[in-house]
Amino acid sequence: MGIDLGTANTLVYVSGKGVVLEEPSVVAIDKEKGPRAVGLEAKKMLGRTPDNVVAIRPLRDGVIADFDTAELMLKHFIRRVHDGRNPLVRPRMVIGIPSGVTGVERRAVEEAAKEAGASEVYLIDEPVAAAIGAGLPVSEPTGNMIIDIGGGTTEVAVLSLDGTVLSESVRVAGDELSDSIMLYMKKVHNLVIGERTAEDIKIQLGSAYPTEEDEPIMEVRGLHLLSGLPRTVTIKAPEIRESMSEPLSVIIEAVKRTLERTPPELAADIIDRGIMLAGGGALLSGLDTLISHETGIVTHVASEPLSCVVLGTGRVLENFKDLERATNSYARYE
Ligand code: ADP
Ligand code: MG
Repeated sequence: MGIDLGTANTLVYVSGKGVVLEEPSVVAIDKEKGPRAVGLEAKKMLGRTPDNVVAIRPLRDGVIADFDTAELMLKHFIRRVHDGRNPLVRPRMVIGIPSGVTGVERRAVEEAAKEAGASEVYLIDEPVAAAIGAGLPVSEPTGNMIIDIGGGTTEVAVLSLDGTVLSESVRVAGDELSDSIMLYMKKVHNLVIGERTAEDIKIQLGSAYPTEEDEPIMEVRGLHLLSGLPRTVTIKAPEIRESMSEPLSVIIEAVKRTLERTPPELAADIIDRGIMLAGGGALLSGLDTLISHETGIVTHVASEPLSCVVLGTGRVLENFKDLERATNSYARYE
């Protein structure tokens, strides 16, 4: 079993079957009765819960912000995938986790996986898994750069010979882009919108670089700040792009800093091969163009950016002898 424990989405890969589960990393908890929903059902409740129910994103900022809930969620997903199988068969698990997590958090993930029935747990750095899943030749002595833009963190890494040569993780990614839109709507349009609506705007209308076509518009519903009543406002693509410029520049700066620190031979490889973009944030329209423009290096979006990490864990599982090295930066727990 391969697992991508992401800040926004958790995906599970089963050997021989492929990706079998893809759910938001959200848990809804009833303060009196305990867990109420996990995954998509819980995400729908974000911002829509009565006082006694809270919808929690346990990994929100790229670290495990709420350990008990993270454990509960991981166990729930593993159990769901494992349902109906022989309980005596305990799977080997390869789990991708953000490279910034601490030793304590790592152990927490392992413990949770063990309790959920893993026989052996291997942790793999998310950028390494993402690069494998994106089809980069990570085992070769060639420099590859991968940028994984998730919900809570952006990870920029240079890889060679199955390992991370250098990496940088910033806590600015998809969530911050949505937050900026939320703030902008309030400040400029006097419209209060929720997290989900802000994400919809980002996905439908958001862009990082202007396109030549007629730029689209969109109608947004929210609460008018002054009258306190529901209202519909029409917004345009350029203003939304502008509203995201600050978090986008933080991401660009992280990429530039990493490039500056890259040893020259590997930098030459990256110029030849280009930069690979993964994670849901890679789907933001024009982000590849913006990065190419800012760095002067050709930038590609992986073919399935949301699945790169889990596909990478799957390849490690299925080619375990060849790729065990990729999990070697961590100790092995049995
Ligand atoms: P994580 O690895 O942290 O779980 P993901 O790789 O699943 O994160 O990416 C989730 C992020 O990608 C969210 O912030 C989401 O809003 C964003 N996202 C998903 N689809 C798109 C899209 N089409 N355009 C822009 N952002 C997107
Ligand atoms: Mg991720």
